[in-house]
Amino acid sequence: MKKKFAVPEPVSRITKTLENAHFEAYLVGGCVRDLLRGCTPKDWDITTNAKPDEILGLFENTYYNNDFGTVGIVNDDEEGKPHHVVEVTPYRLETTYSDGRHPDEVVFSDKLEEDLARRDFTINAIAYSVSKGQIIDPYKGQEDITRKIIRAVGNPLERLREDGLRILRAIRLSSELEFAIDTDTEKAIADSSEMLKKISKERIRDELIRILMSTQPMQAIARAQILGVLNYISPNLERGVGVEQNQAHSFDVFEHLLRATQHAADKEWSFEIRLAALFHDISKPETRRWSDEKKDWTFHGHEVVGARVTKRALEELKFPKKTIEKVVKLVRWHMFFSDPDQITLSAVRRMIRNVGGETNMWDLLNLRICDRVGTGRPKEQPFRFRKYKSMVEEVLRDPISVAMLKITGSKIMEVSGETPGPKIGYTLHALLEEVLDDPKKNTKKYLENKAKKLMESPIEDLKKLGEKGKEKGTLADEKNVEKIREKHWVK
Ligand code: ATP
Ligand code: MG
Repeated sequence: MKKKFAVPEPVSRITKTLENAHFEAYLVGGCVRDLLRGCTPKDWDITTNAKPDEILGLFENTYYNNDFGTVGIVNDDEEGKPHHVVEVTPYRLETTYSDGRHPDEVVFSDKLEEDLARRDFTINAIAYSVSKGQIIDPYKGQEDITRKIIRAVGNPLERLREDGLRILRAIRLSSELEFAIDTDTEKAIADSSEMLKKISKERIRDELIRILMSTQPMQAIARAQILGVLNYISPNLERGVGVEQNQAHSFDVFEHLLRATQHAADKEWSFEIRLAALFHDISKPETRRWSDEKKDWTFHGHEVVGARVTKRALEELKFPKKTIEKVVKLVRWHMFFSDPDQITLSAVRRMIRNVGGETNMWDLLNLRICDRVGTGRPKEQPFRFRKYKSMVEEVLRDPISVAMLKITGSKIMEVSGETPGPKIGYTLHALLEEVLDDPKKNTKKYLENKAKKLMESPIEDLKKLGEKGKEKGTLADEKNVEKIREKHWVK
């Protein structure tokens, strides 16, 4: 079958160089899959019957990965662009995997078909010859792309038992590509999930990151749970299954966490918000108590316990310290403003400090939206929430004051040659009045000139000007606050 794809010149140059030296060269794996789906590939992989030293002999700027025989070819001739690496790997043969993760030895092959046979899924086992425009697809990967199905190459149970990482790759690919997993492959996942015990936490973490950053984290994590895989990603996540909540909630704790996470993905919010959404109610199961008075379940302190449990879970998955710190803070403070009567500006200020500053505060507010949508309530931002947001903005606004002027009291003394005294303050406020009228005047040059002149006027006149400026500043500030409230519809 013939097809013509637009392939970047640095990539086609490599296949051409190999072919000119009488070797075979094919694009393979994710890039062919993505070309067939009509997407731009993230990276380009080439496979060839040339051996590592033969590849190394044909290109200048290379590096060699001994584990798999992969040669990285660095394209550094596009000026000003970041170096682009294309990986060239010799055809390899499937060998035994006694550790459930690494092939016991890397054996090179002369046949493309043998290389395709060792690949994980049919959609990843298609090769494309750039020069011939030819597609080689022995496992009907194209059909599976059209039908949006992830299917193991060969016997699924055998393939997943060779390398447990393939279990997570299947689930991750299904969430990234929005493909379903073939029934037999799915059954094999359920029958081999314990293989994940042999996979390093770092690899599991990397797949979890990609699942969370995909468009379908909810569906993928729900699937992982049903197939018995979630336990090996982070066992705490599963404890919420079937844990009924109070009347405010339509879903059990687990489904609530998934729905909250999905909302963060739908909004394309950051990774930390998504991770915090997934963990925020992680400790509801162990803090759940029945209240005879309320005739309902309570979860007092679940955010405090949850922050500790989240910290341990993320450490276990070897997340970077900074990520852990932030996500733990978001989980710890996700119950902010549970009592609406307590909202004061100073309480808001304290919360911004608790959660670690302005950026985290906006993320916390978004986490709250996820939490709310995850309970099944239709209204994303009720009045109370908008009111809180408006107060955050109010607290964080730049106050209108002489501090925003491009001149200081000491500069005024310097240009006027005067000693400290009330005149300096009056002058600053008089300058503020001018700048409020015309912000373009807030330049060093203008203000220094003007200050010099003002300082020469009699103190009484200066005092009047200064007081007028002060009043105007306060008024302008109040207007600012009003604008913020209008913006959030909480006037
Ligand atoms: P993406 O680059 O979008 O993550 P990809 O499919 O290119 O997707 P890579 O990890 O770059 O993923 O792997 C390149 C190719 O190598 C895959 O398409 C697949 O053919 C093969 N492959 C990768 N990991 C495995 C594995 N664990 N078992 C078998 N084949 C694998
Ligand atoms: Mg790739």
